[in-house]
Amino acid sequence: MQPLASVILKKGKEESMERFHPWLFSGAIERIEGAVEEGDLVSVQKSDGKIIGYGHCAIGSIAVRVFSFGENLPDDSFWKEKIEQAFRLRGKMGLTDAPDTNVYRLIHGEGDGMPGLIADYYNGTVVLQAHSVGMWLVREAIVEGLKAVLGNKLVAVYDKSAKTLPFKANIEAKDGYLYGASSAGEVVEYGNRFKVDWLEGQKTGFFIDQRDNRRLLSEYAKNKAVLNMFCYTGGFSFSAMRGGANLVHSVDSSAKAIELTNENVELNFPGDNRHEAFVADAFDFMQEIKNKYDLIILDPPAFAKHRNALSQALQGYKRLNAKAFQQIRPGGILFTFSCSQVVTRNNFREAVFSAAAMSGREVRILHQLSQPVDHPINIYHPEGEYLKGLVLYVE
Ligand code: SAH
Repeated sequence: MQPLASVILKKGKEESMERFHPWLFSGAIERIEGAVEEGDLVSVQKSDGKIIGYGHCAIGSIAVRVFSFGENLPDDSFWKEKIEQAFRLRGKMGLTDAPDTNVYRLIHGEGDGMPGLIADYYNGTVVLQAHSVGMWLVREAIVEGLKAVLGNKLVAVYDKSAKTLPFKANIEAKDGYLYGASSAGEVVEYGNRFKVDWLEGQKTGFFIDQRDNRRLLSEYAKNKAVLNMFCYTGGFSFSAMRGGANLVHSVDSSAKAIELTNENVELNFPGDNRHEAFVADAFDFMQEIKNKYDLIILDPPAFAKHRNALSQALQGYKRLNAKAFQQIRPGGILFTFSCSQVVTRNNFREAVFSAAAMSGREVRILHQLSQPVDHPINIYHPEGEYLKGLVLYVE
């Protein structure tokens, strides 16, 4: 093995690393000693040569993603131990042996000290998504760690990184099983059944992060007319049905998503005619909803993927929410979300406040929602807080 390259920091640029922030930006680097390629393991050193940690290097403004702080070189058991820690946390939170839930996020990137790696557990199948080349290169070690930690709870590991790896890296990753095989399956979340298609579905197949928010919604749904906008697999829709809604409309611009929603509703409530689903653009659909709904869910995709799209994204949230405030029935409840990482909690609140003000209605905040325990936020990496939601009462 060739010796590790060292990334030497500029004098005075070590503060964020010493405070355990996992991202090293290229502007903080004085020089690199040794040859490096995208994804290589490197050591990060202060200008006096002291090692701060180890990470994977990458092309781009985040030059190194650090996963091990301190002078000791991570050894062969490193990934297994990280996976063990992640699994232990989910166990303590009651997710690994829950009677009515068999889907959870096992590895949440920086939140679990594994920057660049996502692993979702679907009733035996783990779907991996590497966002960095470094993590993709260690995938075999990750699989070994998963086998050791999950034991007979593991049936298969599917790698779905082809679309998430940085395109500049020029590696030709193909999606496929790294261990075992399984077919697209069914999972249960708080007793609700979902078909999950990790081969073709969005992200790893399912939006696990809305689990607790879907459950909260069901508590408010009794006798309500519900609009689930951006429904994808329909989770909020049948949570509303479970909670006793008397009408549920699901809308998504993707025909595939509407197909999935209809299948999932049928799986949970066969022959139930309270539900109807529509393929439509959100902004068009909400043009004319008049006062048809008591409960509206707005869970759009990330409007801003990058910081330079922020102000446009905030306009988007404002326009969308304004339509809901203007038309929701008196005494209605709005569940509204943003999953854009670059939109802060405050940014989002301000956008929603402006939307409320445009409608001139009296609006109160009932809940401020976030991401669930299996999407933990590393306290040294506040950027990991991405899901923000408000539950609002509209007089
Ligand atoms: N609420 C869902 C997740 C939503 S993901 C859940 O609980 O699982 C966002 C969804 O928005 C995707 O399914 C995508 O197809 C849909 N979408 C994206 N742009 C849209 C638009 N302009 N109008 C309607 N749906 C849209």
